[in-house]
Amino acid sequence: MSSVVELKHLDLVYVTDREAVLALQGMNLTVEPGEFISLVGPSGCGKTTLLSVMAGLLSPTRGEVLLHGKPVAGPTPQVGYMLQQDYLFPWRTILSNSVLGLELTGRLTTESTENARNLLAEMGLGDTANLYPHQLSGGMRQRVALVRTLATDPELLLLDEPFSALDYQTKLQLEDLVWGTLKQRKKTGVLVTHDLSEAIAVSDRVIVLAPRPGRIRSMYKIPEQIRNAQPFYAREAEGFNELFHEIWRDLETSEREEG
Ligand code: ADP
Ligand code: MG
Repeated sequence: MSSVVELKHLDLVYVTDREAVLALQGMNLTVEPGEFISLVGPSGCGKTTLLSVMAGLLSPTRGEVLLHGKPVAGPTPQVGYMLQQDYLFPWRTILSNSVLGLELTGRLTTESTENARNLLAEMGLGDTANLYPHQLSGGMRQRVALVRTLATDPELLLLDEPFSALDYQTKLQLEDLVWGTLKQRKKTGVLVTHDLSEAIAVSDRVIVLAPRPGRIRSMYKIPEQIRNAQPFYAREAEGFNELFHEIWRDLETSEREEG
């Protein structure tokens, strides 16, 4: 099977009226089907930019972004995007928010709506379908955002700090939920997080980025006993602390260095 995403010698320059910022430089990265990777690195090192490129929202200045071997020309239903803020429409019910992506891609049917309803139930939101976003907690709203992302059945999920606005307990619960959901559905995931222990606990590979210009500094394969455990328990798995300290040192050095 072909790689889901492939970045080849990718550069991205932001051009503003005052300057040109080289946000990403010479990025090479391959994500395999069913793989869950995390991107970590100092603020401003290009994590969000990288997701936007994968989502087809920004086109590379140089190099290529391939989705199953084909150049990405723009946003596609194959790719789902979930952000820190849930962006639920306050005037729409939870069910109506959940089917937004289906609506926008012209795939709203009785069947797909029923599927979204089932997804809500699976996420423990079965009795919220007719409520409005303001009636839900932050964690519940983020679960709705996950349902909305999954409802269009994307193969690749891009997650930009989706847990960072939540309280600690809710965040741990959602990590387990997202991890389990992606695994069960054999989805591919790319997570951006500033929480290193989260990155190690949920993913198969952790990628450390270096800033100015953003580039890949190092890559860590997560050992099996950590990868196979549910994120909550992965933190207690053998080797977790050692790996955490190793990557932490790497991150600290990365923050001090400039390209
Ligand atoms: P991160 O998500 O890792 O914090 P970003 O991808 O948001 O980093 O930003 C990477 C770099 O690109 C930063 O230096 C940022 O200031 C710059 N940048 C981001 N978005 C824009 C934009 N729309 N126009 C100009 N520069 C931008
Ligand atoms: Mg960001």
